[in-house]
Amino acid sequence: MDVRHCEICGKVFITDSPRKIFCSDECLRISSNRRKNESLKAEWAAYRSSLDQFKGDEREKPKMSIGEISVLAKKEGLSYGQYIVKYKL
Ligand SMILES: [Zn+2]
Repeated sequence: MDVRHCEICGKVFITDSPRKIFCSDECLRISSNRRKNESLKAEWAAYRSSLDQFKGDEREKPKMSIGEISVLAKKEGLSYGQYIVKYKL
């Protein structure tokens, strides 16, 4: 016999089972629902951070200045405008 506090409602209960940590099936159900919610939250956080990483990559794309673009355009015998259109800058 062992006296424990329920992890969900805090009620004191007596059990023989060393694995029993909830006073009732109701508290067990609440606990498993919470765990489900937490794993969903974790999945969502992982999804969000993968999106943020993607955005980070986008931001790291080198931005060329107008001067640099016109130099590159001249090398290809294009005007600044033609170069912009060709490379969708
Ligand atoms: Zn309980």
